[in-house]
Formats: sequence, C-alpha cells, structure tokens
Amino acid sequence: MDSDTLPLFSQINLKRKAHLRGSKQLINIKNCFHLLIWRGKLLFRFNDGKPIPYLIEKKPKFINKLSTYIFLGEFENKNIILWDMSDSREVLGNTDQIGSFSDREKNYHPDLPEGTYFCDLRNLLPLLKGKYANLCATAKGIFEWNRRINFCQSCGGKLSSEKSGWEKACKKCNFKVFPRIDPVVIMLITKGNDILLGRSHGWPEKMYSCLAGFIEPGETIEAAAQREAMEESGIKIKNVKYITSQPWPFPASLMMGCTGEAQSRTIKIDRDELEDAIWVSKENVFQALNGLDNSIFMARRGAIARHLIEKWVAGLI
Ligand SMILES: [Zn+2]
Repeated sequence: MDSDTLPLFSQINLKRKAHLRGSKQLINIKNCFHLLIWRGKLLFRFNDGKPIPYLIEKKPKFINKLSTYIFLGEFENKNIILWDMSDSREVLGNTDQIGSFSDREKNYHPDLPEGTYFCDLRNLLPLLKGKYANLCATAKGIFEWNRRINFCQSCGGKLSSEKSGWEKACKKCNFKVFPRIDPVVIMLITKGNDILLGRSHGWPEKMYSCLAGFIEPGETIEAAAQREAMEESGIKIKNVKYITSQPWPFPASLMMGCTGEAQSRTIKIDRDELEDAIWVSKENVFQALNGLDNSIFMARRGAIARHLIEKWVAGLI
C-alpha cells in the first residue's frame, strides 16, 4: 500500500537508527533536535490550526534538570531526542482532563516560545498531517512504556533505563525488559450491504466503531477475531482476512485490522463489554461519514476502524 492508503499512524518516515541507542556516539551527534512530552502530552505548534510537533534546536535550560531522555531516531534529517518533563511544576493550564478520552486543554510552559502547547495526541488526530503521525505515535508509545514500567517483574527490584530509553534492566537480578506492545484485533464485520458496529460504555454520545479485543496467548489473529465477535455480539464470522495494522499508543496497542463475514444477523450483546451493537447499511454509513446523518457518529479520523469503514464504503475492501 502507498502512504495515501495506509492508516494515519502507519506512514513510517522515522529512521530509528537503533544501532546508536546507548552508544557514546549519541553524545556528540550532529543535527540534534529536542521534542518534549509532559504527562503524556506532546509539545506542538500550530500552523493554520494544524498541529506540528515542535522540534527545538537549542535544548532549553530547564531540561538539564530532567533525567529521562529517549533517542527516537531521524526524522526529516533531524536526530530527535524525546525528553520526559512530566515532573515539571512549571507547566500551566487546566489538568483535570489529563488521561481522559477528551482532554482538549492546551497546557504551556512560560519559558517555551509563545504558541507552543502540550496537547493530547488523540484529540489532535482529526487535524494531524500523516507525515507527523508516526513520529508522534512512536514518542507517545515509548514514553508510556517508560513511565509505567519501573520495577522488575522477576524480583521486584528497581529498573534502570538502558539503550537510550528502549530497554530497562534490573541491577539486582540482571532481568531485562523490552517495550511491550499489546496486539488487538479489530473487525469490520459485513453481512451483504451492512456492517456491524458497536459502542463501548463511556464513549462520546452516538459514537460507533468496529468490534475489537485483545489477542490472547495461543491465538491467531483470525481466531481472536472470531472469538471476540462471538463473545461481544453473538455473531459467528467466517473468511477472516487481515487487511492492515497501525500502532495505537493509548497506551500500547498494535491494532490489526481485519474483515469477516457474518453468518447470522441476530445480535446478542455482552453488556459487560458493549453498550450497543447495530447493523448499519452502506448508504447510512456513507451519510454518517459525510455529516449527512447525525444519528450516529463514526470512529474518529486516525482510528483504524475509520480507515477500514472508509475503504469498505469506497468498495476497496
Ligand atoms: Zn530483578
């Protein structure tokens, strides 16, 4: 697939340069730029309302006090270091919605240039250009892993950061930990001219998306798709086909998009998992995607579900 036909976060234009991680060469690396993240929110500037990750050429003085840095790799000929400045108490703005589904607050640091803000990535997706998306997904994903994993799963000892933020090691028992990714299967389930859409508890009002669930040990992508469809909606599916994938760093998922054909139409919802599930015709999906029908809202731009639904409406899958 070319970049126009890939999900938003899957347009890879970051060279990871993994051989430099933990290397002394990094200290003197040329053309180095700095990206900041604060409590999971990346620093952006805005151009005509569109967010652009703000890459700083001269490291701000206050960063020297901070200890956590991650070498992300090369982006547009710039070597990018990510700095976690979550401990900073100088960032201003409302913090009530941090970590929620709809954090629209723009937080800012008084010593950073005017017009730069720490923003929640998920809420910027409808506006984010594809060329910046994978850099943002990588930064957010590796930050989340570094923030959450601090103690050894083997002996409980404190872990130290290695390989420029891409490994952790236990000083007591030498156990090594690598960034964890959780595989999730997400299914566009069709029956003739209709697709099956569901909504989870707590989602924005009227929002619907494809069914999805975590892949379990011992399962294939196809088997997980069939199990999740049956568990959540009571629908048996066949002919499961893998279509495409995208990282989803909220906090650590890798979404694996599939199609599957339903064998029946009778929905039996698992109320613990879903609030609702419905069949929607291709015509109604088209109207909802184009804002012509406000009775349902489709998964937002940037989500792989949206990508699968748009491809299906266009007759491409
Ligand atoms: Zn240990």
